[in-house]
Amino acid sequence: MNAKPETATLPLDVEHIRADFPLLSRTVHGKPLIYFDNANTGQKPVSVIEAVDRHYREHNANVARAVHTLGEEATASYEAARDAIARFVNAPSRDEVILTSGTTQAINLVAYSYALPRLKAGDAILTTVMEHHANIVPWQLVAERTGATVKAAPIDANGELIVEKYIEMLTPEVKLACVAHVSNVLGTVNPVREIARECRKRGIPLLVDGSQAAPHRRIDVQALGCDFYAITGHKMMAPTGTGALWAKREHLMAMPPFFGGGEMIREVRFDGTVFADPPHRFEAGTPNIAGFAGIPAAIAYLEGLGFDRLKAYEQELLAYATDAIENLPGVRIFGRAKEKEPVISFLLEGAHANDMATLLDLQGVAVRSGHHCAHPLMQFFGVPATLRASLAFYNTKAEVDGFIEAVGRVRKLLL
Ligand code: PLP
Repeated sequence: MNAKPETATLPLDVEHIRADFPLLSRTVHGKPLIYFDNANTGQKPVSVIEAVDRHYREHNANVARAVHTLGEEATASYEAARDAIARFVNAPSRDEVILTSGTTQAINLVAYSYALPRLKAGDAILTTVMEHHANIVPWQLVAERTGATVKAAPIDANGELIVEKYIEMLTPEVKLACVAHVSNVLGTVNPVREIARECRKRGIPLLVDGSQAAPHRRIDVQALGCDFYAITGHKMMAPTGTGALWAKREHLMAMPPFFGGGEMIREVRFDGTVFADPPHRFEAGTPNIAGFAGIPAAIAYLEGLGFDRLKAYEQELLAYATDAIENLPGVRIFGRAKEKEPVISFLLEGAHANDMATLLDLQGVAVRSGHHCAHPLMQFFGVPATLRASLAFYNTKAEVDGFIEAVGRVRKLLL
């Protein structure tokens, strides 16, 4: 089926929704797949798969170069992805949306084009302890080159950002503030509007890593009041290698290019090349055209489900799964924020997360184990790794039950 319009008030019809995702019906090691690794990457509905397939079958050509029909069609499709993302994040202008390979590239673009030319010794970038490495390491790299430092705002034992502390750390030497909208390990939703308001009061630009928010909620960059917002397509049902940076026009206009090459220039001369205006200034080379062909379909799918219905269902599933996991003997859950997206990190006493994940895979269960690209967060909790069950709207309570049974079987083998 195709997702129904957002106006629908009925609860999600998850069985019908599951039929849109071919991969969900496969088996793994002879067992029905339980896919609980959605924070890592999301599965793709038929409409997205078909859009990519259609691109290669009917429209394949390079973008912004050829005047022939295929070239124009490919360009129109690529630019339609920009329109879809601009609408999805409520950007004031489509020209403020830079298409990237994902959040990592989006943040690196800000690090090298915005931060690097501005930073000097004694300056600071503020991030938080709960960030993905993508929102830490690029800042360290530019800080190292300039003599600036990277500061990290603390979190509490529930995995919530200590917002007063974050605000207190917005001192005059901070030239850029960063925060995840939603933590990939804990599911914690951070109060981005409040943080953005405090940053604005102090004239400090704010970058938000929206990787884990976009699959679960409607994004409104204008209402949030931030300066930069990064998303990654593959976590929101779109193809891998797609993503975007939204940035305020005033910042983009003042930013030099990150990559040089074709498509990002107005005129190349050996006595001085003139760059194109944003967004093309930041899009050198041939992009993931086929991947971006799937973006409008992915956004249409999420919007078709309706974010209110999606949230209601996912929150019910999160509560159900949290209860079930909490009842496992010897369990420690990481992250008990008041506002969470459906991500549960946990450990069972005496069982290593990687061993658990390997044995769970043999039962058909896909969960992530490890540090989740969040070493500082692991250090905060004093563990090397956790097991993470991350849910999506196509998961069911029956799968949660199956997961808990599988954990029980694995536990017996390990302990
Ligand atoms: N930020 C967060 C919070 C993430 O969860 C991820 C991916 O796991 C990233 C950034 C990096 O995204 P990508 O690898 O798609 O660039």
